[in-house]
Amino acid sequence: MLAAQGKLGYHVELDYQAASGLSERERALDDTVLSELLESTHREVDCQVCYNLMLDPVTTYCGHTLCRKCLARVLDHTHHCPVCRRGMAIPPLQQTRSNVTLVKLLNGLCPDAVAARAEAVFEEEREGTGDLDVPLFVCTLGFPNQLTFLRIFEPRYRLMIRRALEGNGEFGMLMYNRYLEPQGDLGPVHFYHYGIMLRILHTQTLADGTNLVESRGMYRFRVKAHGVRDGYGVGNVERFDDVPLAEEERIEAEETSLPAAGEGDMTGQINRMPTCALVALGQDFVTRMQARSANWLQQRVLDVHGQPPDDAALFPYWFASVLPISEEEKYKLMGTTTVRERLKVTASWIRRIESQRW
Ligand SMILES: [Zn+2]
Ligand SMILES: [Zn+2]
Repeated sequence: MLAAQGKLGYHVELDYQAASGLSERERALDDTVLSELLESTHREVDCQVCYNLMLDPVTTYCGHTLCRKCLARVLDHTHHCPVCRRGMAIPPLQQTRSNVTLVKLLNGLCPDAVAARAEAVFEEEREGTGDLDVPLFVCTLGFPNQLTFLRIFEPRYRLMIRRALEGNGEFGMLMYNRYLEPQGDLGPVHFYHYGIMLRILHTQTLADGTNLVESRGMYRFRVKAHGVRDGYGVGNVERFDDVPLAEEERIEAEETSLPAAGEGDMTGQINRMPTCALVALGQDFVTRMQARSANWLQQRVLDVHGQPPDDAALFPYWFASVLPISEEEKYKLMGTTTVRERLKVTASWIRRIESQRW
């Protein structure tokens, strides 16, 4: 460096001592340059949305650069650049690459600051929820193994879906409790407390920002506690499953050995039917309705929900997905603890349809 500045003559002989002295001056000079560079670029590497060091920077067509997460949140609300207000024609953010040069520069210049920023964002998102760690979407009813298609346009729910995708790809869906019926310990909350855990299979963002989400029901759960995070619901949930098979068999033996029910006692009669007879009742009904080309069993319905499953445990969920009856009625399946109990619910629907009491 001194040579470059013309201060080091070719005739000067350097001993070891002098060389190390020069090295120090050299280093000091480098440090000065570096800190000046950092100082002058500081404003340039701060995100104009969160005013922090950019994390995973993405550059728009108008040339402005923001953190990927900040840009995503801006895009939830508007398609105008927050810096210059120009329209941001931008492909779906998942397909937009990070600003590689800037990432390398920041990682090289201030790796500690980058790491600290990443850590802070992670902590911020985790602290935001505490043990209310499951996103909850109050919308409609969904069942295990069945597909659910959602159209998500509100910014807060688009944020929820994005975070679910960053996590394990799952979120809980609850049915809206329009009559504010009491839900156990939770009281009269705006949702029914049994919900379905959905796994996101596919998402598509339309030009207007609407998010189409295809998901499949994984398992049922019950909400133990709930709260709000950035406008969408979050909760602490407990998985809800059937009792063991032995217990189910015990219940069946007990119920089928009850004294015969009266002629007009529909519920009593269903209650005494063997489980295999309840399965047959459902399958026969579907076969008869298909033969009659019932509206609710048209091809487009089957394209979405599939053919009736052979698995008796899943049949009621499929049946509820295709049958045009009220959601409140279908919700009766959510709190069941045996396959038999679910089949009794579907049998009661069939009997009511057959007797035209609906
Ligand atoms: Zn930012
Ligand atoms: Zn711009």
